[in-house]
Amino acid sequence: PRKLVEVQDLKMHFPIYGGVLRRRVGEVKAVDGVSFDIHEGETLGLVGESGCGKSTCGRAVLRLYEVTDGAVRIEGENIADWSPEHLRKVRPKMQMVFQDPQASLNPRMTVASIIGEPLDEHTKQSKKAKLDRVYHLMDAVGLNRDFANRYPHEFSGGQRQRIGIARALALNPRFIVCDEPIAALDVSIQAQVVNLLEDLQEEFGLTYLFISHDLSMVRHIADRVAVMYLGKIVELAPRDALYDAPLHPYTQALLSAVPEPDPSLEARTERIILKGDVPSPAKPPKGCNFCTRCPQVMDICRQTEPVYREVSPGRFTACHLQDGHTPQTQQQQQAPD
Ligand code: SF4
Ligand code: MG
Repeated sequence: PRKLVEVQDLKMHFPIYGGVLRRRVGEVKAVDGVSFDIHEGETLGLVGESGCGKSTCGRAVLRLYEVTDGAVRIEGENIADWSPEHLRKVRPKMQMVFQDPQASLNPRMTVASIIGEPLDEHTKQSKKAKLDRVYHLMDAVGLNRDFANRYPHEFSGGQRQRIGIARALALNPRFIVCDEPIAALDVSIQAQVVNLLEDLQEEFGLTYLFISHDLSMVRHIADRVAVMYLGKIVELAPRDALYDAPLHPYTQALLSAVPEPDPSLEARTERIILKGDVPSPAKPPKGCNFCTRCPQVMDICRQTEPVYREVSPGRFTACHLQDGHTPQTQQQQQAPD
């Protein structure tokens, strides 16, 4: 499959200002050297705990933020090179579905005007054609046409997310960044919205970057999954490979906390409890970013950053355990003759 999105060594650093003179005193490395591709028609899951940089990554890919360093390419074009006019032209093809449908919908606009707003901005369709399109979109996301003249507060959270999705679809996008699209919803309706996103992907040939902290949901929807920790991708693999045999100690810990749907397999994974807190992205540790919390940490981990690389076809990780280091070889190196 063709690569639609290519992210290469992306860095998103934000300055911190302090003191009475508001001088620049440091920077937050929200995203610190991230590389991945998204293939046409696939769903790439981007998972990690809050603050790991996954949302910032998603926004950078849509050029909602300017990139600090590295490159984002869409169909081979570096998006940093796009002029404001070109950006305006391609913007409709790259959309975002937000976490909180409540906050992203104007409470004073009717559903029809919310969904139709992108059409007003980017097309010169007749009123009739626009309304037809709005009705069609409401059908597609499972909203009753009779509700077209109602206001967002008259809807449930799940229905509001359907409105947000319909608006994102208005201009026939090809690529959608879904940023925690179900995190604010009742558990009972999360699966419905995920199923809807899957149906729409099929129907309209969409490509998704699906950002979530919910590993069970990502397992359901993603073709491949990237795991982020403290501004870096620690592991990226096809979905089943990642869930069945995670390579990176952080992925192993995250997955050990996911309830096992088949209780007979329960004994297989013992819960790995990580000690300590995630370090500040303004002061990441030396060596491996995960070394302050890794249950398998070795001396080399505190000195040298492991290289993110393809360890087997389609599987990427950054960990010294994949580079021939083991706690044993480490001890041998230290042992006196
Ligand atoms: Fe753990 Fe070392 Fe691997 Fe980092 S490089 S994840 S500290 S074993
Ligand atoms: Mg977030």
